[in-house]
Amino acid sequence: LTESSDRAAVASMWRNQGTDLDDNISYFMKKKRRVWCRLPSGQWESGTIQSTSGEHALVSLSNGNVMKISSSELLPANPDILEGVDDLVQLSYLNEPSLFHNLQNRFSNDLIYTKAGPVLVAINPFKDVQIYGDEFVTAYRQKRLDSPHVYAVVDAAYDAMMKEEVNQSIIISGESGAGKTETAKIAMHYLAALSGGSSSIEHKMLQSNLILEAFGNAKTSRNGNSSRFSRVVQLANGERSYHVFYQLCAGAPSSLKERLNLRMASDYKYLSQSDCLAIEGVNEAQRFHILMEALDIVGISKEDQERIFATLAAILWLGNTSFQVIDNGNQVEVLVDEAVTNAAKLMGCSIQELKLSLCTNKNLAGKESATKRWTLQQAIDRRDALAKFIYARLFDWLVERINNSLHAAKCCVGKSINILDIYGFESFQKNSFEQMCINYANERLQQHFNRHLFKLEQEDYELDGIDWTKVDFEDNQECLDLFEKKSSGLLSVLDAESNLPKASDLTFANKLKQHLNLNSRFKGERGRAFSVRHYAGEVLYDTNGFLEKNKDSLHADFLQLLSACNNELLQIASKLLNDSEKPATTLSEISSSDFPRQSVSTKFKRLDSTKPHFIRCIKPNNKQLPGIYEADLVLEQLRCGGILEVVRIARSGHPIRMKHQEFARRYGFLLSKTNVARDPLSISIAILQQFGILPEMYQIGYTKVFLRMGQIEKLEHRRKQV
Ligand code: ATP
Ligand code: MG
Repeated sequence: LTESSDRAAVASMWRNQGTDLDDNISYFMKKKRRVWCRLPSGQWESGTIQSTSGEHALVSLSNGNVMKISSSELLPANPDILEGVDDLVQLSYLNEPSLFHNLQNRFSNDLIYTKAGPVLVAINPFKDVQIYGDEFVTAYRQKRLDSPHVYAVVDAAYDAMMKEEVNQSIIISGESGAGKTETAKIAMHYLAALSGGSSSIEHKMLQSNLILEAFGNAKTSRNGNSSRFSRVVQLANGERSYHVFYQLCAGAPSSLKERLNLRMASDYKYLSQSDCLAIEGVNEAQRFHILMEALDIVGISKEDQERIFATLAAILWLGNTSFQVIDNGNQVEVLVDEAVTNAAKLMGCSIQELKLSLCTNKNLAGKESATKRWTLQQAIDRRDALAKFIYARLFDWLVERINNSLHAAKCCVGKSINILDIYGFESFQKNSFEQMCINYANERLQQHFNRHLFKLEQEDYELDGIDWTKVDFEDNQECLDLFEKKSSGLLSVLDAESNLPKASDLTFANKLKQHLNLNSRFKGERGRAFSVRHYAGEVLYDTNGFLEKNKDSLHADFLQLLSACNNELLQIASKLLNDSEKPATTLSEISSSDFPRQSVSTKFKRLDSTKPHFIRCIKPNNKQLPGIYEADLVLEQLRCGGILEVVRIARSGHPIRMKHQEFARRYGFLLSKTNVARDPLSISIAILQQFGILPEMYQIGYTKVFLRMGQIEKLEHRRKQV
């Protein structure tokens, strides 16, 4: 405590000394203070100014060198006592190197959580840090610990839900591998522990998570347990499909293996194509048993479990199905072998039905279904589309079942805390439909973040007549318009093009260039490419495959095939889709395997009605190793996440607001007897004056008192003393 009040005192002293020279570097140069220097390599190094001449300073760097550096390459550094503060708001000087250095300082001491005002920054330690478990849960619950932690965030959300009776959301964002899913799990464990931990609902909740991870996560080059979508049929080298396939092949008991005609993972093309079958240190067979247990606990019957496994095996056999060209190259036929035989058997349809579905285009519109044969490549694509389609339906079915099971356990009555784990922004050398969907979702999330932290904050000040210098922040509305605008937005153009018979990825790209050229976030590139300036950086997209992927879930004929299957799961799953969506809708709106665009909007609308708590996960290195803190990588993520702006707003703003009535009711009794104030506003002013809250620490609005960080504590303290 003493240390932190010392810090606060020093910080304010420093700020006051600087007064209007606060962040002015020439003042620093004159006083020969500690500074950050940008070296020609772009890296920041700390140093002390030795002498100055004009716009240059001779700086003695912490690495021992002395260099002449231009003042434009210098930024103020914070006093030593502020090293490693647990809320970046406490820093006297806000700039990138100071933030970055503070986080690094903490990270190297295993302090992976730091507050950035209202946002919790979490740096992935890539190792076990001893800050979780029952003891910590209790300490945070009893408020004995208040250092930044996921537990503290969830605890605050829980208290707010109980007190204000408002739904809460914990929004976790960050790049792939930054630790979102782990953070979500830590949050769920805390919630489970809060409500006793051992009751069946909490247990079920944690087990459902395990199931969803088996079916929804896969190894990628950036994360061994990445939350992914759409990766059943195509894999990059070194990456894997969903964990559950490997678990099933390795762990199925022999009787189940026999019933499913199951082979080893290496025997299936969908799994062996990427030359990566195992993950170091993972026992797949053991995982399979844990998965089966979880399915039991969540209440999925043995029959349904068998159907799930049969469906997975069907997908694997589909992948092994091959084709032959007959009739002088004019026709394509499925090669009848064990692959197609097993696939049909497991799906519960006849080989003939499956063959027809794969090799012909049944026109369902007309009664006497006109059929047309596919080319070899088209047939292969269709096979893969069917496999993806089945997996997506299976996943939807599973989510539905789990939700029903939890609902039955009365888990979903009353107020809720929503935990959102969203895949982070992606930018590769080659970016396709999937990256576009991910980045669009992140663009929405960024807006939600902006709205809450910047826009609403400012609107609140203005409404209450408070003078407040606006903090500039990058509004991404134009980028969202680029995607969402009716009829001329990217998504509308994509849907329209997907419905035109003669359209191709190239015609789509050209349409985009026609419609979007005026949007400053859009740039048409050569051929099929275009680029978008996202909030987190510019991304070059190649439209190759966009139309096909967008159309994926449109497969009305696949639906027909599945609904006629004897595998009950497939029947039900195909109805899940039918009931909720009109068949004529574009696939992209309904397929959850690829991306539930429509539901992205709905989900964000639902989020808007909750009180948000933000956690930004940061990946300190690309090697997935502990102890490595790569400057460029971290800086880039701080920038993409707008962390500096958040801290600036939190510091320059008055985050605590209370209605005058409420404020007067809570603290009015502390006023001395001689006080004559009667109306709430005057009482508020009297309280602030009597307790010596400095004028720069509060603002009086028409309806509310606005307080800077750390002020309400003083009043609360007095209140408790009485
Ligand atoms: P993706 O977007 O690919 O799903 P993600 O952000 O969800 O990525 P995680 O799967 O949560 O990333 O984390 C990647 C890995 O980092 C984990 O498997 C784990 O090894 C490690 N990790 C993350 N957070 C922590 C933590 N708090 N403590 C220890 N290790 C962690
Ligand atoms: Mg994840």
